[in-house]
Amino acid sequence: MAQVELAEQDFYWQQEEARLASLADTGILDSRAEPAFDAITRLAAEYFHADTVLLGFADVGRVWIKSSWGEPVRELPRRGSIFEMVLTEDGPIVVPDTKADPQLAQRRFVCRRLEIHSFASAPVRSWDGKILGVLTIFGSQPRRRMAQDELRMLESLADMAASQLELRRLRRNLEAAGPQPARPARIRETSWPRQPDLRTALEQRQFVLYYQPEVEIATRRIVGLEALIRWRHPERGLLAPAEFIPAAEQSGMILPIGDWGLSEACRQIQQWNRELSRPNSVRVCVNLSAPQFAREGLADHVEALLMRSGISSSQLGLEMTESSLISDKPTALDVLKHLRKLGVSLLMDDFGTGYSSLNHLHAFPFDALKIDRSFVNRMTEGDQPLQIVRTILELARVLGMDVVAEGIESGAQQQLLETMGCRYGQGFLYARPMCAETVTQLLHLPGRILPETAAKAQTD
Ligand code: C2E
Ligand code: MG
Ligand code: MG
Repeated sequence: MAQVELAEQDFYWQQEEARLASLADTGILDSRAEPAFDAITRLAAEYFHADTVLLGFADVGRVWIKSSWGEPVRELPRRGSIFEMVLTEDGPIVVPDTKADPQLAQRRFVCRRLEIHSFASAPVRSWDGKILGVLTIFGSQPRRRMAQDELRMLESLADMAASQLELRRLRRNLEAAGPQPARPARIRETSWPRQPDLRTALEQRQFVLYYQPEVEIATRRIVGLEALIRWRHPERGLLAPAEFIPAAEQSGMILPIGDWGLSEACRQIQQWNRELSRPNSVRVCVNLSAPQFAREGLADHVEALLMRSGISSSQLGLEMTESSLISDKPTALDVLKHLRKLGVSLLMDDFGTGYSSLNHLHAFPFDALKIDRSFVNRMTEGDQPLQIVRTILELARVLGMDVVAEGIESGAQQQLLETMGCRYGQGFLYARPMCAETVTQLLHLPGRILPETAAKAQTD
């Protein structure tokens, strides 16, 4: 008998050690505040009308609260905690009335000044399923039983916290692996181009927009186009954005170049509206840099462009990265709301590479997010990137956003994405960025379904 108990204890400690190793891997206990979690606790408080919401992670002896809504709590003893109950249950716990629960009636639950009469808690798991923490909503009054979809919502919110942990862990691992080899495009003369070179290019109409199709993965149907700028340099040939956009951003030339890009995209949409049998059916997404976004009057400028070109606002999309938004968050939010009101789609680009992704995703009115190419690229190489993509998809599903996977190059990547429920994609597997004339031919295809051979029609 004693031997059985010992074996059980051994098993418990083995499990606990593995759990603690997983927790350490996220580095979450070393960090003080994690603003991304605040978006989750706030959302939970609003959705459940909860008095207090806590998100905490447990080490051997204590539960460390990393985000709280309502009562500000930093830490709690682990012994007898709700975390312990969730761990034992290996799943969520709902207690509508603590006094009516035979196992809990004798205990008095207090969260600082607040006496707790109801709570519900869902596990926050690591990518390999270990319970690292819990998300708990507390009420000072008994509540009615939780409906299935409410419980699902609580679990989804806990999954969002898990996604944040995953992104965090991946970033830590990437940082620990040291600097990645520089992309060839970045190894270039740092002194070129200068501001006058960019000005000349603009005056002499050396910039062109290429377009890369975005497709519905299941059918290969073109659902949109992304405008990608190129510089047709008379001596240096066709230059990719990495070779001149950084200089344009630093010199401020990105503003006139960006204006040109936006109006050129609108002009091209107008032309397609005239040429295609289904007018107003093409949507083009234009990339915006941080300085374009920070400038006053962006939304008015876009509105004027739409009026002038006569295209429908649903035909224009704007892509921006998180970093363009964080410098001045309130202004950014106003601009985005204004753009959204115009009917322009908003897409968060390179999702997963910036910091506190969830915070921005939740705070800003985006229609879609684009999973960064680096995750798609490594998806077939191991569990970790695959799990990241899966959690991003889950996150988007809960927030009701579309997802476009960037940089799909192989059938294997396509298949994985499709199985995980990713609806849209973009990448060399379907088509490279192409000049407008080539794209026009693709837009004439029956049903706009890209044949397998379209990827070879590259003019880049
Ligand atoms: P982005 O917006 O993330 O655009 C996607 C980039 O991934 C494009 O690079 C595209 O050619 C590339 N790509 C697409 N599919 C694949 C694939 O399957 N494999 C690989 N390896 N790459 C793929 P590109 O055209 O060089 O543009 C790079 C970045 O430059 C863009 O990243 C965007 O941030 C910026 N950019 C492009 N055009 C503009 C513009 O008009 N204005 C501003 N401000 N930035 C622009
Ligand atoms: Mg983009
Ligand atoms: Mg991108």
